[in-house]
Amino acid sequence: MNDATNKKALFIRKLRQWYHKNRRSYPWRDTKNPYEILISEFLLQKTNADLALATYTKFIKNYPSPRSLARASLIKVNRLIFSIGLSYRAERLNKAAKQLVNEFGGKVPDNRKDLLKLYGTGLYISNAVLCFAYNKRVAIIDTNTIRIFGRVFGIKSNLKRPRTDRNLERQIEFFLPIKNSREFNYALLDFGATICTAKQPKCDYCPLNALCIYYRESARQIPT
Ligand code: SF4
Repeated sequence: MNDATNKKALFIRKLRQWYHKNRRSYPWRDTKNPYEILISEFLLQKTNADLALATYTKFIKNYPSPRSLARASLIKVNRLIFSIGLSYRAERLNKAAKQLVNEFGGKVPDNRKDLLKLYGTGLYISNAVLCFAYNKRVAIIDTNTIRIFGRVFGIKSNLKRPRTDRNLERQIEFFLPIKNSREFNYALLDFGATICTAKQPKCDYCPLNALCIYYRESARQIPT
């Protein structure tokens, strides 16, 4: 095995061990229903998962299918999700639901090309649906995963908007396990939200610190 493969194997093993004990539980993780997963990803955009939780539960109860959401009044949808902010979200949800009904027979597509046609979806949402609903091995490119891979392996994007960077996506994909990448992507999201946080990452307790470039470089900068 070469160095990159060794590091990848260690990274996967350590992160899986950590996740086994520290996984966060959310209802959208207990479903494989593509519509429910799509809704959760819209609601989680720029929104803390714990904050989105109650809104998600109410939303699915009120609008359990693309057809019910496509028929809904924008005012009512807006009122339901108002508390979690981003007022443009209601229109996106409503328009995307109409597309699902009118263009995709009421079903959420299982391929990137069609997912990207949905109003308000980009690389992140399309990959999240492919991975979490359809079990495809794709990278989830969000601020958490970008930060983790930047710090641990020094992988960086040259684009102004790294979340749209296909090259970065391919580099992160290399580090995904062949099997169970769905759980592994959840592990990355939880790890970024609780350990490798944007401010004050918990490096001293971190199971990945032996691998991490950022940790090594920070240690070098501490005066002796
Ligand atoms: Fe993140 Fe620190 Fe762990 Fe590196 S050692 S992965 S920077 S928490």
